[in-house]
Amino acid sequence: MRRALVCLVVLAACLQLSSAFVVAQSRPATAMPAAVDTSALDRKADPCVDFYQFACGGWIANNPLPLDRRTFGRFTELQDRNFEILRRVLESPPANASADSRKAADFYAACMDESTIERRALTPLTGDVMMLDNLRNPDDLPVAIAHLHEIGVAVFFRFGAQTDLTDATRTIANLDQGGLGLPDRDLYLQSDARSQEIRRTYAAHVEQMLTLAGAEPAAAATDAQAVVGFETALAKASLDRVGRREPSATQHRMTLADLQRLTPGFDWKKYTSAIDAPKFQVLNVTVPDFFRAMNTLVQTTAIDEIKAYLRWQLLHASAPVLPKTFVDADFAFFSRTLNGQQEPQPRWRRCVTEVDTRLGEAVGKAFVEETFSAQAKDDTLKMVQDIKNAMRQDIDGLPWMSGQTKKAAMTKLEAVADRIGYPDAWRDYSSVRVARDDALGNVQRAIAFERQRTLKKIGEPVDRAGWSMRPQTVNAYYSPDRNNINFPAGILQPPFYRAGRDAAVNYGAAGAVIGHELTHGFDDQGRKFDPEGNLRDWWTAADAKAFEERATCVADQYSGYTVAGDTHVNGRLTLGENTADNGGLRLALTAYLNGPGAKAKDKIDGFTPEQRVFLGWAQIWCENSRPEAERLRAQTNPHSSSKYRVNGPTSNMPEFAKAFQCKANAPMVKTNACRVW
Ligand SMILES: [Zn+2]
Repeated sequence: MRRALVCLVVLAACLQLSSAFVVAQSRPATAMPAAVDTSALDRKADPCVDFYQFACGGWIANNPLPLDRRTFGRFTELQDRNFEILRRVLESPPANASADSRKAADFYAACMDESTIERRALTPLTGDVMMLDNLRNPDDLPVAIAHLHEIGVAVFFRFGAQTDLTDATRTIANLDQGGLGLPDRDLYLQSDARSQEIRRTYAAHVEQMLTLAGAEPAAAATDAQAVVGFETALAKASLDRVGRREPSATQHRMTLADLQRLTPGFDWKKYTSAIDAPKFQVLNVTVPDFFRAMNTLVQTTAIDEIKAYLRWQLLHASAPVLPKTFVDADFAFFSRTLNGQQEPQPRWRRCVTEVDTRLGEAVGKAFVEETFSAQAKDDTLKMVQDIKNAMRQDIDGLPWMSGQTKKAAMTKLEAVADRIGYPDAWRDYSSVRVARDDALGNVQRAIAFERQRTLKKIGEPVDRAGWSMRPQTVNAYYSPDRNNINFPAGILQPPFYRAGRDAAVNYGAAGAVIGHELTHGFDDQGRKFDPEGNLRDWWTAADAKAFEERATCVADQYSGYTVAGDTHVNGRLTLGENTADNGGLRLALTAYLNGPGAKAKDKIDGFTPEQRVFLGWAQIWCENSRPEAERLRAQTNPHSSSKYRVNGPTSNMPEFAKAFQCKANAPMVKTNACRVW
């Protein structure tokens, strides 16, 4: 089943997009240096000309992109190591393994059992296909869509739960745009050659999948055109990614009766009862225009075309656990065409990813026991406190902010909760049925379980104990609606953190990651939330204006960068992340110099303490990637390309220029340096 991109579907801003698509390759764990990774350097490069090349050039040359990768970098290296641990736990569960851990092992075994998957062919989908065949008119749609949503087929729209941003202690229902097969709405609408080519290949892929499922070739071709046409209509009604970054643009609280008046052609009572949602009166409709358009589409599109769309989406969602012909077709379009990946990942790694995504906490406990030490937790907590102190100092000294807003900012900072490692209470999967001969059914049931778990929250107090990431994930996040920063055990390892390693490198890497998440609470989105997580303005008009001017400087800076030789970074799409990178690195440097670096003067490997902080940051971003993946990232990902995550912030910092003794006219010294935090 398709994997949701963690940071886009929940109210969270994170360090990188979900690593769900990271891929496999067995590598020995690299030697862990005690300070800067000198083998990653390119000493022929001038740090004042291209710091990324200086810090990472050696690593980039030594780690050519494997055929089964679209990108490969330090995050991937670590995620590989984490997944090797999960693989071992799944392939040979210890004798004392918990019931959930054994369930995860069965789930993995079913996913690995290709011969059963081949033998059963499309039999596991028979019931779902029959249900679609029996659709007669638009009145049948609410029940059919509810069933498809339950098993993870993302048709038409998304229904779930969210924090009520007018009262952040409560959870309300949420209805959002959705239903697209391509990863971005603009790919359906833009007229450039690349988008046109992608649409053409996409239509051919839809046609192929329908044919593989038994459609007559002529019918499959007609249906594929109908599918792309239908999705294009949904895309037109969707709000684009930059528009969605404004929090108030996606908050439209209304009653169920209001919603029914907005979309008279779609019976919401039928849908919510079929999906077994708790009774509710109020919900948030993120993009009302989308639902207006959907209402028209449901009434004006031939039912056979809608059925073709639903059938395609069912096959698409199921592809990873269908027979090889479907897996290969899915790979050819979504991995090769869209991302430039040349070969599929090994099966074991796709199946570990599937377990991680569907039953992640069932294996999380074993992972934590093996990897996460009390020392790591203590060190991280210490860094969090140091970084928060640096932020206090920063807010206090801001020349552009009034005392009134500073006071409010300080109140918000004091309220930021920090969580490190793993959840206090593990998710209980005892109600999920897993069978060793039913890979697709397992996935569907795990998704249905997760959906019910989410829907049950509607009308309830916000659950502040739950995590939006699994402990084995190499990532971190900030939740604006909960005002907390979260660091899974999976990222608190080399190259991000290592016990006993040079503190300058630990602060430059893990410390700056902490600073990044903390700064999200005060970026262009986060600043609009109050200490409790409500969407409430606490800024004076003049301070808000000063902030926006500073943010615009950052947006313009990054819009000037290009990737893959021809594609601009979108400075507005990436503004929050770039603000967090810039703030995070500065906070980490301040925290280090106030704390463990206060007396440090000695060079290590020829680098001063300040230089090692900057190198610590830069070296977590060493990466190789395919041009197709870079272009798609620039279009869809709120994070900038790795090179600019290094050169963007450092070129804004006089502290960097001083540390590396760069001349005033050096490329890495920006004349109009941007600074928000
Ligand atoms: Zn982030």
